[in-house]
Amino acid sequence: MDCLFCRIVAGEIPATVVHETETTLAFRDIAPQAPTHVVLVPKTHTPHAVALAEDAQLLADLFAAAGEVAKAEGVAESGYRLLFNTGADAGQTVFHAHLHVLGGKQLGPLA
Ligand code: 5GP
Ligand code: ZN
Repeated sequence: MDCLFCRIVAGEIPATVVHETETTLAFRDIAPQAPTHVVLVPKTHTPHAVALAEDAQLLADLFAAAGEVAKAEGVAESGYRLLFNTGADAGQTVFHAHLHVLGGKQLGPLA
C-alpha cells in the first residue's frame, strides 16, 4: 500500500485521531495552518474529492463528520473552512481524497 492516508487509516502510520466513524477518519494535520487543522478522510481509497460523487452516502458521512469535528474543536459557532484541494495546481499532495477542516482564527483569503 503506497497511499499515506490509507496507511494512517490502517494504523501503520501514527496520527492524532480526533474523530472516527465506520466510514471516515479525522486526524490532526502534521503541519497545521490554523489552530484547528484536521484532515478528514474516507476510509476507502478515493483519489480525489470529485470521485466521491460515486458514493453519495460516503459524501454525506464526510460532511456529517466535519460537523462533529467542528463541534468537538469548538469552532462550530466561530466558523471554519472546509477545503478540498483537487489536483496539482490546487496544491493537492496526497492523492487520497481529504477534507481540510480549518478554524480557530480569522482565516485569510483563499488565493
Ligand atoms: P493536500 O496538500 O494534499 O491538500 O493536504 C495534505 C495534507 O496532509 C497537508 O496539509 C499535510 O500537512 C498533511 N500531511 C502530510 N503528511 C502527513 C502525515 O504523515 N500525517 C499527518 N497527520 N498529516 C500529513
Ligand atoms: Zn488511500
